Amino acid sequence: MSVKLEKVVEKFYESLEEGKFLGRKCKECGAVEFPPVYACNTCGCMDMEWVEISGKAVMKSIVMPAALSSKPEYSQMGPIAYGEVEIEEGASFNAVVKGINKKKRKELLEKLPVPVHAEIFQRDGYKTVVFALDEE
Ligand SMILES: [Zn+2]
Repeated sequence: MSVKLEKVVEKFYESLEEGKFLGRKCKECGAVEFPPVYACNTCGCMDMEWVEISGKAVMKSIVMPAALSSKPEYSQMGPIAYGEVEIEEGASFNAVVKGINKKKRKELLEKLPVPVHAEIFQRDGYKTVVFALDEE
């Protein structure tokens, strides 16, 4: 990992400590990347600036975690799934979404995309971003 990318990652985690979600906006094409990356995924431009994102998003697909791959540190959140999430600023990526078990997934599959929002989840020693359903 390059030093510059490490700095990007570091600032992202610092902002989570302050309760903020930061993304990177490309000065060339205006695309917003989240989680932040060093260079724009849309046009490859490296001239990017920090922007605070709202955390509002929609979930477009749901994948249940395989039993063996589910991470024990997430167990305190209750059931989780993985989903393709698109934030209102435009970036889409795979994220952990809380509160989805197999039954819930069935209900939600008929309603996709469904509104979700970003939350900060405290893991051992650091914070990370997870998503939760708006309806709950
Ligand atoms: Zn760009």
